[in-house]
Amino acid sequence: MNVAPHKFSQMPLRAAAFVALVCVTIVGLSVWREWEAREVTLKTAEVDLANLAHSLTQHAEDSLDLLDTGIVGVISRLETDGTGSDTISKLRKILVARKNSLKRIHNIVITDENGNSLASAMGTPINRDDREYFLHHQQSAERGVFVSHPFKSKLDTDWDIAVSRRFNHADGSFGGVVVASISSGYFAEFYRQFDNGAGGSVALVTADGIMVARSPDNESYAGRDLSDKPLFRDPALQSASGVYYFKSPLDGAERVSFYRRSDRFPLLLLTSRDQGEVLAPWRNAAIGRMMFVVALISLIAVIGAYLVRQLRRGHRMAAALAEKEANFRMLAEGSSDMVTRIGLDERIQYASPSSLRIVGWGPDQIVGTPALAGVNPADLAAVQQMVAAMKRGEVEEARVTFRTRHREKSEIWIESTLCVTRKVSGEIDGAVAISRDVTQQKDLEERLETLAIEDGLTGLANRRRFDERLAEEWTRAYRERTSLSLLMIDIDQFKSFNDKYGHPAGDKCLRAVARILAAEAKRITDLAARYGGEEFAMLLPNTDAAGCARIGERIRRELHEAGIPHMLNPPFALVTASLGGAVCRPASERSAGPASLVEQADRALYAAKAGGRNRLVMAEQTLQLVPVAS
Ligand code: GH3
Ligand code: MG
Ligand code: MG
Repeated sequence: MNVAPHKFSQMPLRAAAFVALVCVTIVGLSVWREWEAREVTLKTAEVDLANLAHSLTQHAEDSLDLLDTGIVGVISRLETDGTGSDTISKLRKILVARKNSLKRIHNIVITDENGNSLASAMGTPINRDDREYFLHHQQSAERGVFVSHPFKSKLDTDWDIAVSRRFNHADGSFGGVVVASISSGYFAEFYRQFDNGAGGSVALVTADGIMVARSPDNESYAGRDLSDKPLFRDPALQSASGVYYFKSPLDGAERVSFYRRSDRFPLLLLTSRDQGEVLAPWRNAAIGRMMFVVALISLIAVIGAYLVRQLRRGHRMAAALAEKEANFRMLAEGSSDMVTRIGLDERIQYASPSSLRIVGWGPDQIVGTPALAGVNPADLAAVQQMVAAMKRGEVEEARVTFRTRHREKSEIWIESTLCVTRKVSGEIDGAVAISRDVTQQKDLEERLETLAIEDGLTGLANRRRFDERLAEEWTRAYRERTSLSLLMIDIDQFKSFNDKYGHPAGDKCLRAVARILAAEAKRITDLAARYGGEEFAMLLPNTDAAGCARIGERIRRELHEAGIPHMLNPPFALVTASLGGAVCRPASERSAGPASLVEQADRALYAAKAGGRNRLVMAEQTLQLVPVAS
């Protein structure tokens, strides 16, 4: 019985878990999908940055190449033609023409072995023997191209980067340097053309971390030393190119960047964008989508919570019902009374185990059978009438007592208390009956009833019964205008009979007289009663004086002929009786009621005694002696 509610109680919990799982899954999938979208956005930005870095690296290399080509040409002239003033003067023109034709060239200078300017595309000749590139070429016989660190131009305040080569004298000694420079501003200006977002930047840095040019804010960045940054220290970031995420030391914003190291010059190009800016379109769309998801989740949660509540309510109701049912069964099964549930079809749906004791059939045998099957036909109509009234809803509860068949005993009395049962909708769906065996009470009642009206010694009606019947018959005679007769009978010399033969014999004699009287009460309305002591009465409705006298005389004779010896009752020495009879017609006589009839009969009896006993005297012939017949 405990299994069912336990099963029920898991249901709302499971439903809630399911709803929660659905919500968590939707949220999980959405978050995962958004994360993917974020990754795709970043990946796209990385590709864009990589492409840009690739192009701009190419641009930087091309720029330096362009400068170097010019330098190589000038060196070839210098080494062929020497550094005579003619040659230098021609070369100066070439330098100026070259600078003018190539905007990106800041200056081209030829220095002698001491760093003094031999020719310059612009400005006044100045000494450059302290320049990094000069010192490099002076000290190294290496003929290759040298790319300098950024330096501040001596002619203006621009930051420049220089490409240089040494040239030799005819004897192979150091002849000087040809150097071409590009201003940092050129690169910055060029980089500005690329839209890299508000927080984006492009930077050209030497391989060891000195900023050559940057867009935007070139002025404040050029020449800055970045060599302590991870990009130049972290072994993982020393590849030719790669993605690089970092936090800007300036504003603390996350940056996504791509670096590319030139494989021809000691330069690195770094393109970067503000990560927040890159992700902004995705974030805006994601917020919209997540709001939709949250709304959906809320809806599911609300509907889920409602359903779970309904489920819990249903479960509670079912549990309450199960508990009620369990209580009902416990009460029913523990009860000594038989508890039955009867459907509208009047068949038994449930019977408690005590049915076996009450009607002799166990629950298994009577469930499904008609509830009124065994009812005694004499009681059936009353029971059916009550059942019909209950079905119509006129009676909610009723008690009925009836006789019914018992499996082994002949018949028993059942007292049933019936109570209508209804569905939740209020519709009647049957009744519960609590029945008990009242056979013993019924028998007792019957016996008590008999005791109340019967004389214990003789079995005739007692004085109480006689008085009742006299009143009833007197009323009836009055109503029906008929006559009513009464005989009073008193045994002669009975005191001495007792004295002579003893009391038990006296009782026996009384019973013999009673039998004679009972036999003479031939009509159903006739009543023989023990009036008191050894005095009897015989009520004869609808009987006239002649009839009364005839019956009285017969009684007297039969007793006499019974021949019960009574030595002290002369002259026959047999038990005899004296009788007084009286008749009345209540409707036509002026009468004082039933009492006067008894009085008249008594008086007649007294006359019979006085007249010598063993005789009948009718009231109207009081004192007239009736001759002894036998
Ligand atoms: P009478 O002829 O004048 O009637 O004389 P009697 O002796 O019969 O006088 P009475 O009617 O007064 O007698 C009543 C006697 O009946 C007294 C009592 O001994 C006897 N008696 C009354 N009731 C019973 C009874 O229930 N059993 C027995 N054995 N005797 C009874
Ligand atoms: Mg008497
Ligand atoms: Mg007597």
